[in-house]
Amino acid sequence: MIQLKNSAQISAMAEAGRITGEALLVAREHVREGISTKELDTVIREYIEKCGAKPSFLGYGGFPGSACISINDEVIHGIPSKNRILREGDIVKVDVGAFYKGFHGDSARTIPVGNVSEEALKLIEVTRNSFFEGVAAVKAGNRMGDVGSSIQSCVESAGFSVVRQYIGHGIGRDLHESPDVPNFGTAGRGVRLCAGMAIAIEPMVNVGSESVYVLPDGWTVKTKDTSLSAHYENTVVLTSEGVLITTLVDKEW
Ligand code: MG
Ligand code: MG
Repeated sequence: MIQLKNSAQISAMAEAGRITGEALLVAREHVREGISTKELDTVIREYIEKCGAKPSFLGYGGFPGSACISINDEVIHGIPSKNRILREGDIVKVDVGAFYKGFHGDSARTIPVGNVSEEALKLIEVTRNSFFEGVAAVKAGNRMGDVGSSIQSCVESAGFSVVRQYIGHGIGRDLHESPDVPNFGTAGRGVRLCAGMAIAIEPMVNVGSESVYVLPDGWTVKTKDTSLSAHYENTVVLTSEGVLITTLVDKEW
């Protein structure tokens, strides 16, 4: 069942979202060659806790980190490790959730480490653009397929592919709620959107094939063809006044 949020709940979601977005800004400040993904995870956790919130991912399904940190051909769900060191030319996906006043925020960015390839920069830009194409379709009366097809056509017209195996989701008191939010689909089909819906829209985009697999660690998702992958996510609430992107703290990012 889809849990619609009232205005008081949307205010609480805005606060959880702001903390989530700020934690990503902290992560961005620390991304540099030589830092381990574990160190990055620690600064994120410390920031969230300093705000009086809790990291949504820590312990979720047994996940050992506060953030999912995935490098290059890792798509999502990378486990922070002191043995994973960022190198110049890498792209690193940082996915963060914060739980505050009973509600979650969920957001991800793909961050270049120093100078990266033209292809990597284009991938990051297209992935971000596809999110905003999806958001443009978030209107009362539209269907979820309008959101997914907008994301898909943006990605595919750039020559990249959309991951099918993992999708966005409703969000609120629980990190993952109904409805499903696929990054692909058919316009005019699917769940009808209405005020009070809160969803995490999160395109995962590969340079090569859409095929992915899970590493033996049980978490890390990688591209099968080892091509680069990017991720961009925000928590989006459809209110009676329009769209509120709770986790978008830096409007340019
Ligand atoms: Mg996320
Ligand atoms: Mg999510």
